[in-house]
Amino acid sequence: MNIHEYQAKAVLREFGVPVPRGIPALSQEDVAKAANELGGPVWVVKAQIHAGGRGKAGGVKVVKSIGDVESEAKRLLGSTLVTHQTGPAGRVVRRLYIEEGSAIDREFYLSMLVDRESSRVAIVVSREGGMDIEEVAHKTPEKVRSLTVDPVTGVSPFHARLVSEVLGLDADLQKQMTRLLAQLYKAFVEKDMSMLEINPLIVTKDGKLLCLDAKVGFDDNALYRHADIVALRDLNEEDEKEVEASKYDLNYVALDGTIGCMVNGAGLAMATMDIIKLYGEEPANFLDVGGGASKEKVAAAFKIITADPKVKGILVNIFGGIMKCDVIAEGVVAAVKEVGLRVPLVVRLEGTNVEKGKQIINESKLNVISADDLDDAAQKIVKAVQKAA
Ligand code: GDP
Ligand code: MN
Repeated sequence: MNIHEYQAKAVLREFGVPVPRGIPALSQEDVAKAANELGGPVWVVKAQIHAGGRGKAGGVKVVKSIGDVESEAKRLLGSTLVTHQTGPAGRVVRRLYIEEGSAIDREFYLSMLVDRESSRVAIVVSREGGMDIEEVAHKTPEKVRSLTVDPVTGVSPFHARLVSEVLGLDADLQKQMTRLLAQLYKAFVEKDMSMLEINPLIVTKDGKLLCLDAKVGFDDNALYRHADIVALRDLNEEDEKEVEASKYDLNYVALDGTIGCMVNGAGLAMATMDIIKLYGEEPANFLDVGGGASKEKVAAAFKIITADPKVKGILVNIFGGIMKCDVIAEGVVAAVKEVGLRVPLVVRLEGTNVEKGKQIINESKLNVISADDLDDAAQKIVKAVQKAA
């Protein structure tokens, strides 16, 4: 789960992390109040969306009068911001963050994330802050350095020394870095973050480390013990289809392809996606309906898939063990009765109650292309989609 920059800064502030003073604003009236309260003489108006690259897209503006705060806010509120992270459709700006301006001497990059290879929290740093770190890592990998933290001993002055060396910090800044790393690591572990990115981390003109931007993601599996974090969820920022799927406890991930997939079991779902790609199309989603899904859950899943305008064909691939083929068939038929079917549908059923499942589909008079195995099914749906295009 991701949160907004202003929320991330509030969480970090609880741990003593130095962040600029700022006030969130949801309306034009809030904006003027916030600007007055902060006092100036420099303000930063920041669009709050769950995507980076706002600066280059005009979503972060440094201004020097309350009038300019208000006009930038007016321009941004309700507008659609397109950054290199939002995709071409962009995101509607519904919230702003008004901050006091900072005088920047140097900009760095610093992040923490769970490194699967070492099974540790990794600290990633670079002198090339403020810009697109993926590009820096791609073109000049030597400029991005990472170190890992032993979970038993935690973060220590040793890490701060290394980080300071990479960033070229003097003794005083190194002292600040020692404190900052301890605070960030504590926040990361206690709040079960999966990612914490400060870009830029700055040195101000008066020699202070300050986190000018903050992007934080949390481990969904740990959210049950963080009611305060769950309360920060902004459904406007999440994929509608994924929000709908989460209501039914479905393992659903929206993707960019054309073939909607309904499969039981995560492994089979991944194999199904692979084989679709092998035959030249792309999956529109990952979906594991799980073992004990009800007819209602299957119908909900099918409706989510058909509602996606990108979907040009649907592949139902069920190898029923715990999941019963007749329940899948009933769910699909119920969903089609309700919302119709505008694209080709290939169904491959195998396993428990397969005869009953096939019978339900046959009797429904649904326009279904049936398939015998996974390979056959994938070829049939790819062919149907390409013929329709
Ligand atoms: P992002 O583009 O979405 O990552 O948004 P950031 O919060 O990182 O802001 C983009 C850039 O705006 C930063 O890298 C800074 O160069 C600049 N910026 C942000 N806040 C301030 C500020 O208080 N003063 C100055 N001078 N520049 C700022
Ligand atoms: Mn940034």
